[in-house]
Amino acid sequence: MDLRTDYPFWLLDEGIIRSYPSLPHDIHTEVVVMGAGISGALAAWHLCKAGLKVVVVDKRHVGLGSTAASTALLQYEIDTPLTELSAKVGPRDAARSYLLCLQSISDLGKICQKLPEAGFKRRPSLQYASFKKDAADLRKEYKARKAIGISLQWLEKEEVKNKFGFEKDAALFSRDGAEVKAYSLTHALLHDCRRQGIRVYDHTEIKSVVEHRRGVELIAADGKRIKARKLVIACGYESGVYIPQKVQTIHSTYAIVSEPFENDHFWFRNSLIWETARPYLYLRTTPDKRILIGGKDDDFSDPRKRQKSLSGKARALESSFGKLFPALDFKTDFKWAGAFASTKDGLPYIGSLPGRPHTYFALGFGGNGITFSMMAAGMIERSITGRKDPDAGLFSFSR
Ligand SMILES: Cc1cc2nc3c(=O)[nH]c(=O)nc-3n(C[C@H](O)[C@H](O)[C@H](O)COP(=O)(O)OP(=O)(O)OC[C@H]3O[C@@H](n4cnc5c(N)ncnc54)[C@H](O)[C@@H]3O)c2cc1C
Repeated sequence: MDLRTDYPFWLLDEGIIRSYPSLPHDIHTEVVVMGAGISGALAAWHLCKAGLKVVVVDKRHVGLGSTAASTALLQYEIDTPLTELSAKVGPRDAARSYLLCLQSISDLGKICQKLPEAGFKRRPSLQYASFKKDAADLRKEYKARKAIGISLQWLEKEEVKNKFGFEKDAALFSRDGAEVKAYSLTHALLHDCRRQGIRVYDHTEIKSVVEHRRGVELIAADGKRIKARKLVIACGYESGVYIPQKVQTIHSTYAIVSEPFENDHFWFRNSLIWETARPYLYLRTTPDKRILIGGKDDDFSDPRKRQKSLSGKARALESSFGKLFPALDFKTDFKWAGAFASTKDGLPYIGSLPGRPHTYFALGFGGNGITFSMMAAGMIERSITGRKDPDAGLFSFSR
């Protein structure tokens, strides 16, 4: 699958951070992780730290799938508002999903304390009512989140104007967001595991996966084999071929980043900003004094159409930004686009499929892909090390 356009900002900014050899010969290991994006790296990190022997393989270079294109806002807010999610999956599971996302951001922050190159930074998150009519639903959302113990503030028009400078009827303001550099983090996680003996092979495409009674066997494009007790599939939006049912819809999404500004203060605490409209516009800042904007999603997944649309979408993103912050002279420095998956309820798919007890999926589909990947890593580690997980059913394939 063509996951993204050729030049996402993070790849241009960081280059190829590290590259690894391809699989040199047949090997045995305890766990093999297929996919070295943020999902695979987080899963591998958790498994290594739990003392397991882990091998990671990727058909591309590490992090060069969707992860290199990610705008990497870390939000506990799932694309489906809590009020809607409660109606879809029940209030208990909806609340638990939100709270797990909240916890994941903190957990990731702890991991990143030792990985400064990942650029993890706590940021508040602002969701504004795109239209006057959205304010009433946003108010219900505010109450629903408060009721499950999430700390957030309701901002009236005046306060939005005072803090952010733009005119919107209402907004939710929460302390609990963060930003990260997903591509750098992916490399940092794998590098951090080297003392645990992790082996990483890039340019190793797995062509077939066979599940045996006591483990799995992977066959690479050149015929070399990996035998393992357990397999984690973290192939991002390309994981569909390993699942009998269709669980995701692929769309296209777009992002632009400004030239660096002279100052690094843009709006109230450089919060993450997003909105109630769908598809939503979202904004963050970067450590090198840029503003990053994403959104304007299309329903199609055709990479040629995506590439063709990119310039127009970049102009549209700039123009939407200009309406919010007319005083900031945003000049696009880089633009890119990528595939993007959503699910029926906005929740990820994590865990195994019936009849395949040795294979685990870490499919963080949705706007909170990275937060979901963090949750997936912990849940899969608990499963593989034989610990009970009361939340295991929340993101199962049979929900
Ligand atoms: C433009 C854009 C903006 C985004 N913004 C955000 C955001 O703000 N916040 C957020 O949380 N999420 C965001 N996301 C989503 C997030 O980036 C993804 O959820 C995340 O990067 C997925 O990581 P992954 O490791 O699952 O997939 P990937 O990064 O795609 O990694 C999967 C890897 O599997 C490998 N692979 C596939 N098949 C095989 C095979 N057969 N053999 C070997 N290797 C294989 C691929 O080469 C790839 O490297 C955004 C996505 C895009 C495109």
